[in-house]
Amino acid sequence: MLQIVTPPIKLGGSGRGISYYSTAARCPRRAKLDGQNKGSSSGYDAKVGTIDHGILELFYDGKLDPAILRDPNLFLQVPEDFVDAKDEALRLAQAYFRKYPELDFWGTPIGVEIQLPTEGMKQAVNEFFLVDLTARLDLATRVNEAQLERIAERTGLRLPGPGVYIVDHKFRTRRDSYIGETYLLSAAFTAYPAMWNLHYPDDQCVGMIANVTVANKEVVFQQALVSPPDENALRGLQNWLIGANELAGTDFPNWTSCRDFNRTCGHFTSGACSRY
Ligand code: SF4
Repeated sequence: MLQIVTPPIKLGGSGRGISYYSTAARCPRRAKLDGQNKGSSSGYDAKVGTIDHGILELFYDGKLDPAILRDPNLFLQVPEDFVDAKDEALRLAQAYFRKYPELDFWGTPIGVEIQLPTEGMKQAVNEFFLVDLTARLDLATRVNEAQLERIAERTGLRLPGPGVYIVDHKFRTRRDSYIGETYLLSAAFTAYPAMWNLHYPDDQCVGMIANVTVANKEVVFQQALVSPPDENALRGLQNWLIGANELAGTDFPNWTSCRDFNRTCGHFTSGACSRY
């Protein structure tokens, strides 16, 4: 029987998320155009990651038996412009579930794709971060002692203790030799635990885990743990958000960002931006 799996495809960010401010800081024009035409510049690797985020969302939400992904009659249903990426996305997902088949591997799921702030918390979040800030958390879990040990045994990652963790799924094409620094210095990994703790002061986040799948010829996995931010890190984040927010209000075309990360900006390629 044909098995159809339809991973949710989420285009664009969570609204005024870290990636919006990050793009605005790199090129305000680009952030504006992205907002008008979400997803228009998705490259192949981004599409693979988007499909796999959808597959992991289904799984950690208890809606997908990973055995189905090995069924030769599987049909992965994705939008037409994602079809070129679905074989690679399936390869990575199959490798992931061979390695981590347990639904509670990263702790017992509390929720997937959690959109913050909640309705009643918008003002508090704005006052805390000094700008409108939204976040979409891939996965929040509650880790117990047995799960802590299993994570340490199977990944080498030593979590500081039981409690709530935020798990962020990443899909990369290269191993990161500086993975600890990469996520320690990440604005999202600073903001998300703080955002959670603002919402749930009696059930605070113990740490945030980067759960990275690396699409080498042989798929490999990397993890990093980041503790919730201290006051200095929070102050730095707030300053950066204020600056990025000011830039976001402009239409400044930043020429030095037109070929970021070895990729030509999609708005230049499409003709949407004339660069002046
Ligand atoms: S082409 Fe350059 S200036 Fe124009 S939006 Fe892209 S990065 Fe900005």
